[in-house]
Amino acid sequence: MEYSERLKSLPAYLFLKIEQKKKDLLKKGVDIIDFGVGDPDLPTPKNIVAAMQKAVERPVNHRYPLGTGLPAFKEAIAQWYGKRFSVSLDSEKEVLVLIGSKEGLAHFPLVFLNQGDLALVPEPAYPVYQVAAILAGGVPYFLPLKEENNFLPDLEAVPDKIAKTAKLLFLNYPNNPTAAIANEKFFERTIEFASRNKIILAHDAAYSEIYDKEKPLSFLQIPGAKEIGIEFGSLSKTYNMTGWRIGWAVGNAEILKGLARVKGNIDSGTFLAIQEAGIEALNGPQESAEEMRKIYEERKNLLFSGLKSQGWQLRKPSATFYLWSKPPFGYTSEETVSLLLEKSGILATPGSGFGPSGEGYLRFSLTLNEERIKEAIERLRKINLL
Ligand code: PLP
Repeated sequence: MEYSERLKSLPAYLFLKIEQKKKDLLKKGVDIIDFGVGDPDLPTPKNIVAAMQKAVERPVNHRYPLGTGLPAFKEAIAQWYGKRFSVSLDSEKEVLVLIGSKEGLAHFPLVFLNQGDLALVPEPAYPVYQVAAILAGGVPYFLPLKEENNFLPDLEAVPDKIAKTAKLLFLNYPNNPTAAIANEKFFERTIEFASRNKIILAHDAAYSEIYDKEKPLSFLQIPGAKEIGIEFGSLSKTYNMTGWRIGWAVGNAEILKGLARVKGNIDSGTFLAIQEAGIEALNGPQESAEEMRKIYEERKNLLFSGLKSQGWQLRKPSATFYLWSKPPFGYTSEETVSLLLEKSGILATPGSGFGPSGEGYLRFSLTLNEERIKEAIERLRKINLL
């Protein structure tokens, strides 16, 4: 069977080898401490589950959802943006409900890219941006995220010819995998760059609610943002709802109209009961989200000190549930991950899997409890890879 050229042109999935190694070790009965996947271990808050149970009983929710989303959920999203970011949104035209933000990000390039068009894509990054651009017939032009630039892309370094012809720019702050955040100045510069070059901006804010104290910004808070872009959001990380598949895109009405048109031809919307539960998530009590932030902060402090004391180089991030760190062993990311897995049963993600600028780093996801983190630190202390 011959796969399409398009599918064959997707980048190799570097994590495959590691997943196989993990499976083999699990089969041998090795107790693996898995810092690999960015999937919250905590349960969805009870009030949201209860709202879902009620919603799923109602036959009106059993039919095709269709359209751009349940009006009451879209209104809840608009109001949440008002409360959280002081950004005013027209819930009818400036909010589009998605089947998880990944779904929207993956379909987004189909709205604007013609064969061979350029999309500016950061690296290291969540792989969906470049894959989506390629599947739409486009060509990713990579913007390296370097530590010396606080993991922000250097837009001044983009050659004029590229900037003038690129159609799209993907950004993601708080950032996966580097855990960096963006400030107002950076967003201002980016909006100026995008407006000047007529580039449409897609900002992925899936981790906007995973922070310690300082609340991350929405790119839509910056004047001019709504003229040139949209922002993707999600209930996945804020309310431990990764399996539910619900998210949104908000911002420029015309861009959203295009995305809704693509989606209308591909899917039939987000299960209405899940959208009703989404209303409860945004409007209901927020204590569990508060509690979750504290839990991640404690985990982060614990692993940060554990790694630091053993010579790892890393910054303590103020957002996301990732630690982006350089091991002291002198191997490549992939070699380090393999060695750690074999010698200590600790699994982290090689930075190079997110792009060439991720080489030298490992990503630790803080989605396991303190006891397991302490155990991992102990195991690390006992092995010697130097
Ligand atoms: N954006 C980033 C940066 C992510 O890391 C993820 C998931 O890990 C997503 C988007 C997808 O989230 P969702 O569950 O809303 O599809």
